[in-house]
Amino acid sequence: MADARILDGKALAASLRATLAAQVADLKAKHGITPGIAVLLVGEDPASQVYVRSKGKAAAEVGFYPREVKLPASASQAEVLAAVDEFNNESAIHGFLVQLPLPTQVDPQRVIDAVDPAKDADGFHVVNTGLVAMGRGGVVPATPLGCMALIKHARADIAGLEAVVIGRSNTVGKPTAQLLLRENCTVTVAHSRSKDLAAIVRRADIVVAAVGKAEMVRGSWIKPGAIVIDVGINRVADGKLVGDVAFDEAVKVAGAITPVPGGVGPMTIACLLQNTFVLCCKAHGVSL
Ligand code: NDP
Repeated sequence: MADARILDGKALAASLRATLAAQVADLKAKHGITPGIAVLLVGEDPASQVYVRSKGKAAAEVGFYPREVKLPASASQAEVLAAVDEFNNESAIHGFLVQLPLPTQVDPQRVIDAVDPAKDADGFHVVNTGLVAMGRGGVVPATPLGCMALIKHARADIAGLEAVVIGRSNTVGKPTAQLLLRENCTVTVAHSRSKDLAAIVRRADIVVAAVGKAEMVRGSWIKPGAIVIDVGINRVADGKLVGDVAFDEAVKVAGAITPVPGGVGPMTIACLLQNTFVLCCKAHGVSL
């Protein structure tokens, strides 16, 4: 059997950004509006610093006004909430996010609750979570949005397929399962208490792995021809980044598979920008 088709998230994200850049130029020319995106980074977490830099760079490339605010790792809950409030009230900012994880003295839920849902680029606020769950609009979190774009890139019509999402976080697993359900897949959500995960994954036409455990999903678990989306980002002993799927094994069985890096990661950033563009248009009453 031939190796799986590699779902190139870098290339797909680049084409999404190109479309977005044209839309931003149009918005500027016709309405004089520049979408503004802000990121709040608290502390010095090296992975977070890399993500924030990538987001800022991508935002500037598509013509956004990018803003970054850094607070020290010692910042108090009140200081973080004050920074969120500043973004909520800044008219040049149309969408923003608080980079997670936050230092232990700051309660992430209180911070997410403080974000104006109309500026919630990440789609983590409970209002947006509820709207998305109900299929009533709302901001879809960027990573699930990116996963769906990659899946649809592999196969346009996925109605009726068996989909297994491994992981049930509020930010990745649960919203991805809801989006797959909306596409009329038959969806199973697996987690740390699931029994015989290998057997569950074996029946899947679509596997989304969002666990955070290096190469946990083995090639022998994959149904031949399945679409495999690997959300995991794990740094292993030699400093290399690997996903939650044993890529070298799975690529021999799957029909299509995302690499790590270069799969879901770049799509997350592109979808974050797309979310902010939509929020900007809504804020200014510009129809898309
Ligand atoms: P969380 O830690 O919030 O959730 C992990 C999920 O995996 C939980 O639901 C947990 O189950 C489940 N899990 C843990 N161990 C097992 C196991 N042995 N078998 C089955 N399920 C298990 O992680 P996130 O959802 O935030 O992120 C998941 C991964 O994706 C991480 O590697 C993260 O770095 C990466 N990520 C990548 C992004 C990208 O842009 N590429 C964006 C966001 C995240 P339970 O609920 O029972 O504890």
